[in-house]
Amino acid sequence: MTINFKDKKALVRVDFNVPLDKAFNITDDTRIREAVPTIRQILDAGGSAILMSHLGRPLAKLNADGSVDRQKFTLEHLVKHLRKKLKARVHFADDCVGKSAVKKAAALKPGEVLLLENTRFYPEEESGNAEFAQKLAALGDVYVNDAFGTAHRAHASTTIVANYFDANHKCFGLLMDREIANATRVMKNPAKPVTCVVGGAKVSDKIILLERFLDFADNIIIGGAMAYTFMLAKKGAVGNSLVEPDRVKAAKEFMKKAKAAGVKVLLPKDSVCGDKFAADAAVQICLSHQIPDGWMGMDIGPSAIKSFGKVVRQSQTIIWNGPMGVFEMPSFAEGTKSIAKAVARATSKGAFSMVGGGDSVAAVNQMKLAKKVSFVSTGGGAMLEFLEGKELPGIKAITA
Ligand code: AMP
Repeated sequence: MTINFKDKKALVRVDFNVPLDKAFNITDDTRIREAVPTIRQILDAGGSAILMSHLGRPLAKLNADGSVDRQKFTLEHLVKHLRKKLKARVHFADDCVGKSAVKKAAALKPGEVLLLENTRFYPEEESGNAEFAQKLAALGDVYVNDAFGTAHRAHASTTIVANYFDANHKCFGLLMDREIANATRVMKNPAKPVTCVVGGAKVSDKIILLERFLDFADNIIIGGAMAYTFMLAKKGAVGNSLVEPDRVKAAKEFMKKAKAAGVKVLLPKDSVCGDKFAADAAVQICLSHQIPDGWMGMDIGPSAIKSFGKVVRQSQTIIWNGPMGVFEMPSFAEGTKSIAKAVARATSKGAFSMVGGGDSVAAVNQMKLAKKVSFVSTGGGAMLEFLEGKELPGIKAITA
């Protein structure tokens, strides 16, 4: 962070969209912990921090009378925990704009923190309303964006607010800097060989990403339900597997492009199949292009685990997005586990590994391997769009 924060009130967009239980206790404080270094640096430099964030989707879950469910979605639930983590005075404003926010922001002293109420209590947040953004901007002297997870949205607090600060008065926070640096590192001049592992449910969600990987990958490993649409493209029989027949053409074209680009595409030779989409399904191993009717491919099989693992372990750069199977069900989790282990092993031997995008992050965390990969991205959709080569509005608003 290049700004001198001394005696400055820094308006910081954090991502405090943490999961809460029924009693509003935080069940996973990763997002708070990850924002602490940025806030701490501002406070230690003699500044104060005004924090803004969203929590959940309050406007999509209104009370029966049409009002906002403040009890459920208030950021006040986080205050106590934040005090503990920051070891600082943390005030709370029960509105993110308006009189009380203005008053509390003005009274804030160096070393202190003000947490603003949920920005998504206002429809103006998601619509990117300029007037609303200007009110937020007026609370601080400088703007810091440390919410990578929402950088792909042109919301008021993530993007539009930055228009009210000149280049010397806005910057990325430490977390956001790290996300951008790591994603850039894997795409620009990565150490070779580069292996991209892509899994998950749908080809349609990942086809842009797959095509982008053709620019710099040596190997692309495809697992998850996506693999069966590719099997269809190769005229295989996939039984009842989850497929997208309207993406068969895209899969065929992708294979052609990969061949022309000299990129090796690895599909799972075999699959763990179930007779229904359930944890207690009967299970058998089938060749992925010969899945019988009444059975569905729900994980990569033992032979695929071996060949995928070997390629991953021999790589110098690994990007992983999406699980290899229905990892939420123990009978179909082995493939995803084995990739997580192979990525950890390659990393221990010097490879650079990045895990990004929702479910693969959950899988790595579930296996307690997060510390054994080089970088776990906090931004699901945002990381996908960044890797796809899109310009994220939250980033552009700071750099442009
Ligand atoms: P995504 O959000 O696209 O990364 O997809 C993740 C979801 O894909 C997870 O909930 C997995 O259970 C699911 N998934 C992965 N492999 C399969 C499969 N073979 N059949 C059905 N669902 C799958």
